[in-house]
Amino acid sequence: AKISGRNQVCFFDASMTRNLVRKKEIEAELRAALQRDELSIFFQPIVDLETGRIRAFEALVRWFHPEKGELRPDEFIPVAEETGVIITLGNWITAQAARACAQWPEGVSVAVNLSPVQIRAPGAALGILTALRDAGLDPSRLELEVTESLFLDDNQHTARFIDELAAKGVRFALDDFGTGYSSLGYINKFPFKKIKVDRSFVSGPNVGIKSDAIIRAVAEMGATLEMDIVAEGLETIEQVHTVRNAGCTLGQGYYFSRAVPDYLAAMLLAQELES
Ligand code: C2E
Ligand code: CA
Ligand code: CA
Ligand code: CA
Repeated sequence: AKISGRNQVCFFDASMTRNLVRKKEIEAELRAALQRDELSIFFQPIVDLETGRIRAFEALVRWFHPEKGELRPDEFIPVAEETGVIITLGNWITAQAARACAQWPEGVSVAVNLSPVQIRAPGAALGILTALRDAGLDPSRLELEVTESLFLDDNQHTARFIDELAAKGVRFALDDFGTGYSSLGYINKFPFKKIKVDRSFVSGPNVGIKSDAIIRAVAEMGATLEMDIVAEGLETIEQVHTVRNAGCTLGQGYYFSRAVPDYLAAMLLAQELES
């Protein structure tokens, strides 16, 4: 409760109540949506900038709501995190992604986004290993994308989670690099195989000589440490050229493809085999 002026105690204001109701609504609907099959995983190619070939797909969740239409993850992932639904949802996403990847050629891996809430849940590593085993997918073909916010607290558990899965061959990517609490310490401490440079370095008001120099520096570090550096959010050929010249090894964005359903991902791979 908040003490407002004149010693009145006011519990909630109207907008807080509305937010809470809305959150409860989304939570209930999300649980039902999982049962009703309204969620799907779409796949966006991650392309080798040298050869133009697809090296991986990032799994991105989509919710097709019967009345509200397509809901973006930014609208429901935060609620799923706050309510803990993300744990069930996340296990389901990993299982779907692993199953799809098992159908692709061996050189193609799948990247799955993990939220800190999922990683902190008891049995998190086991959930992922179970999904891999059930799909018959080699752990080395799974890449887990985490953001720097993961490292703000609870470092022991996080370190154990990463070490346990890395020991089995699962790879880790540092996502949205350059947006949060970017610290080279995390790169030094954890076995990342990949750094994804945030889209804000590729397009928008902050792009210029400075952002270019930063990408260059990150790419140089990546080359020395034998990490892939991915440029996200590539929409134009100019942007592709810029990040390639700066030394990024992989690219992702609408210029190559949006996230597509699993059958279209399989078709993109089949077309590659023909050419
Ligand atoms: P992210 O991990 O940074 O994912 C990339 C986002 O950028 C995706 O949005 C993708 O569709 C979008 N994108 C890709 N290429 C371009 C481009 O060229 N231009 C522009 N403007 N956007 C591009 P999406 O699918 O809406 O996902 C948003 C965020 O939601 C993701 O950001 C990720 O943080 C979260 N998310 C998505 N799927 C999952 C999931 O399965 N689990 C968890 N925990 N989070 C997820
Ligand atoms: Ca991601
Ligand atoms: Ca990202
Ligand atoms: Ca993001």
